[in-house]
Amino acid sequence: MARAQIALVGIGKIALDQHVPALAASPDWELAATVSRHGTVDGIAAFTDINDMLAARPDIGTVSLCLPPVPRFAAAQAVLRAGRHLMLEKPPGATLAEVHILRDMAHAQGVSIYATWHSRMAHGVAAAKAALAGRTIRQGRITWREDVRKWHPGQDWIFAAGGMGVFDPGINALSILTEILPAPVHLTAADLDFPANRQAPIAARLQFSGGISADFDFRQQGPQTWDMEFLTDAGHVALRMGGNILELDGQPAGGQDSIMGEYPALYARMAALLRDGASDTDLAPMVLVADAFTLGHRNPVEDFEF
Ligand code: NAP
Repeated sequence: MARAQIALVGIGKIALDQHVPALAASPDWELAATVSRHGTVDGIAAFTDINDMLAARPDIGTVSLCLPPVPRFAAAQAVLRAGRHLMLEKPPGATLAEVHILRDMAHAQGVSIYATWHSRMAHGVAAAKAALAGRTIRQGRITWREDVRKWHPGQDWIFAAGGMGVFDPGINALSILTEILPAPVHLTAADLDFPANRQAPIAARLQFSGGISADFDFRQQGPQTWDMEFLTDAGHVALRMGGNILELDGQPAGGQDSIMGEYPALYARMAALLRDGASDTDLAPMVLVADAFTLGHRNPVEDFEF
């Protein structure tokens, strides 16, 4: 079957690291155009304005947005107004209300919208969900500590209002948490460290119902940590490497030490949503982040420069 035409918008770090290779290997999709003010992909038609691309290429039925969250809403509305299917990088918007609006627009236009959570596609996540099903969780601890200079070099938007700061990676942990738990949790307390010269937190400590806590930090030097560990009524369950490695009672129990399966799985799911005429806009991870900003204590910490 012919591959469906797709356009990629915002040719920056994640587009080049993950989206372009995933599309190149996809049996479902053909990258037909890019939209970016500076970035391009060799051999692919390049536009600098999304409305120009939408007008010039009615053959492109699906658009995938890799922009940071704040500039994404206007582009997303343009895509839906033009009657195209829409795929959103995480987090799907700068606010929850934006995504509600996009979901309603997509429904009215009869097109699919997919608010992706790439970490849910990590190799150990489905098995961890199966392992936790039917168990009672007594305690859970998430440790998500990475070096912002390594993973987001020079990305000032991440510390601007709406950039979410350390919740940009932290929401990946929350996307796994909200996928695998046998019962939902809600945020009960938060401590947020804001650099005095920035508008978004560089570290956060969160408490959830059910004895689950999280420690997010963007200042990690040396080994990087993306772990979650649960003590249950039937033993220990842990996910390491951002959800890619599963451990049961301290022993390796599945998964694969690679993040490279996540984006191919997202594009396969987008193709399945189109085939089914369906959409997927689960906002549970973003609700936890919004609640942390609402309820959190704010601690000023030292200035941060890249
Ligand atoms: P990025 O490289 O800073 O931005 C992507 C592209 O968006 C830029 O190259 C730029 O392209 C465009 N852009 C940036 N700011 C803009 C603005 N204010 N208005 C219009 N266009 C703008 O960011 P990224 O790391 O790829 O992250 C993008 C999204 O992917 C974020 O939501 C992030 O959470 C998610 N993500 C990132 C990673 C990662 O490791 N970095 C991993 C997973 C998911 P032009 O200048 O060419 O227009």
